[in-house]
Amino acid sequence: MPTYTPPLRDMHFVLHELLQAGDTLRCLPPHAELDDATINAVLEEGGKFAAGVVQPLNASGDAEGCKLDPATHVVTTPKGFKAAYQAYVEGGWPSLTADPAFGGQGLPIVMNQCLYEMLNSANQAWTMYPGLSHGAYECLHAHGTPEQKQTYLPKLTSGQWTGTMCLTEAHCGTDLGLLRTKAEPLPDGTYKLTGQKIFISAGEHDLAENIVHLVLARLPDAPAGSKGISLFVVPKFLVKPDGSLGERNAITCGAIEHKMGIHGNATCQMNLDGAVGTLVGEPHKGLPAMFVMMNAARLGVGNQSLGLTEVAYQNAVAYAKDRRQMRSLSGPKQPDQPADTIIVHPDVRKMLLTARAYAEGGRAMAIHIALLIDRELSSDDADERQACADEVALLTPIAKAFLTDNAWIATSHCMQVFGGHGYVREWGMEQFVRDARINMIYEGTNTIQALDLLGRKILMDNGRKLKAFGQRIAAFVEEHGTNEAMQEFVNPLAELGDKVTKLTTELGMKAFGNPDEVGGAAVDYLRVLGHLVFAYFWARMAQVALARQAAGDADPFYTAKLHTARFYFAKLLPETAGLMRSARSGVAPLLAMDEALF
Ligand SMILES: Cc1cc2nc3c(=O)[nH]c(=O)nc-3n(C[C@H](O)[C@H](O)[C@H](O)COP(=O)(O)OP(=O)(O)OC[C@H]3O[C@@H](n4cnc5c(N)ncnc54)[C@H](O)[C@@H]3O)c2cc1C
Repeated sequence: MPTYTPPLRDMHFVLHELLQAGDTLRCLPPHAELDDATINAVLEEGGKFAAGVVQPLNASGDAEGCKLDPATHVVTTPKGFKAAYQAYVEGGWPSLTADPAFGGQGLPIVMNQCLYEMLNSANQAWTMYPGLSHGAYECLHAHGTPEQKQTYLPKLTSGQWTGTMCLTEAHCGTDLGLLRTKAEPLPDGTYKLTGQKIFISAGEHDLAENIVHLVLARLPDAPAGSKGISLFVVPKFLVKPDGSLGERNAITCGAIEHKMGIHGNATCQMNLDGAVGTLVGEPHKGLPAMFVMMNAARLGVGNQSLGLTEVAYQNAVAYAKDRRQMRSLSGPKQPDQPADTIIVHPDVRKMLLTARAYAEGGRAMAIHIALLIDRELSSDDADERQACADEVALLTPIAKAFLTDNAWIATSHCMQVFGGHGYVREWGMEQFVRDARINMIYEGTNTIQALDLLGRKILMDNGRKLKAFGQRIAAFVEEHGTNEAMQEFVNPLAELGDKVTKLTTELGMKAFGNPDEVGGAAVDYLRVLGHLVFAYFWARMAQVALARQAAGDADPFYTAKLHTARFYFAKLLPETAGLMRSARSGVAPLLAMDEALF
């Protein structure tokens, strides 16, 4: 069975040595008193909870899955899930970063980022139950009426109730403009919702006493398409004016999906048979309101994959140090044994280092984004808030798609390290691969993330957000470019930055002539940008490690960091050359063939 050790040392490195998170946070009024020791103590406890309570339920939850009783519509989660959720609520974890006005602890988002990475490593399926509540909380916090906030936010904050997002219907997932669920106004100002949603994660379960569904639907006078969608809050149990639970609402689970992975999370078909809800935000403006939840969820999905990459890596390393097969090509490395451990073989190391480079690069990027969100939410400088919001907007599709594509590669490599033993259930490696696969699909497929990045976030923005990120890189190159020891990191970073600028201009020109060119290049382009961001963080991490060593610090952590940085630049970054070539080859090879010939 897999094991998991929270990567606290690397989290401390990223938080305190790379990003000076404490200093950044203490400049924000709500966190002025926060000290580094508190951050570390909370993460240590969070790690204990993830590894001690949630991780032991991962394999059993996968094997058991969720069960629906069709007569009562009750969904039972795997054994132990409910008790773990109760312990999570009693520990106060759901309220960690929530607004104190609604019972939250008001700690920075960056702490949830680290907590959730650990929970996802431990058990992605379980973590989705509390995870979805955060999106519902944020959406209602941003767009709810004072009454809705008072009704729902304290219970979502405490974890007494959980949340969902109900967007997808059988005939529409990507193109939500096609959705058909109806909402009819009732005389008392509420709405009656009728329709069917599918694939709703955590749509029904036995962990919490109520479930707060955020549902997209159409009002009777709605214009066609995405401009006619409104957002409603529809609780499983109606809430009485005193906050206690009332009647069961007519939103029920009709079926649960039998799927490739995340078996412990109930993926529900939800039937709305005249369910009562209230409008969130303005009529027909539901999609922009829902985007608050969707953006949070996109970063959350990237974090799911970061967690899986880390846990798969840890287990593959342990196996590679134990399993003996063959001899090193350059002669026996453990001559007193019948064979060498497989970690001597270059390609086994390549697989391990790939996972490690993706995990540590992803962690640096994800914590950086979380800190940007803290500054966006809490800075008292409006320009800083806007600059942070812009950078988060640029990096969100990259975090979602690049981290999830990387996890698919990394978990598959880590399974490969186990040979045939990776493919059988006993070792738990195939579960990581199966669980990782959904992350590339939901919350907008990775293709949709790529279109969002190249089309909306870059070309429609005249490259403004990208230029700002480029200035970050240029400043780093300027500062460290003359340091001999940094050449091997700074030079390829600067070179890739220049190439990205050129490629972006070329794609912009092509797209001007033919919008399909965006579709032909976007996926390759996102991966190139993912590498640009990773190269920036790997160069920065190398710089910190070199500086520590120069100051006489002999901690092997820094030696390992430098080896991993060198591996990243030598073996992973060169992928960008092929990707740029493919992006440049244009859309013609994709569209030339007549449909009938497929
Ligand atoms: C386990 C699971 C959990 C889920 N949880 C939730 C949930 O909690 N709430 C919820 O609302 N939904 C949820 N979903 C739904 C999920 O978000 C959708 O499946 C996803 O957005 C894709 O929609 P679709 O399945 O309808 O595929 P489609 O939209 O039909 O897409 C099919 C293919 O066409 C591609 N495509 C579509 N449009 C374009 C385009 N313009 N350009 C290029 N390619 C395009 C897509 O990338 C994809 O490869 C979940 C799904 C699963 C499987």
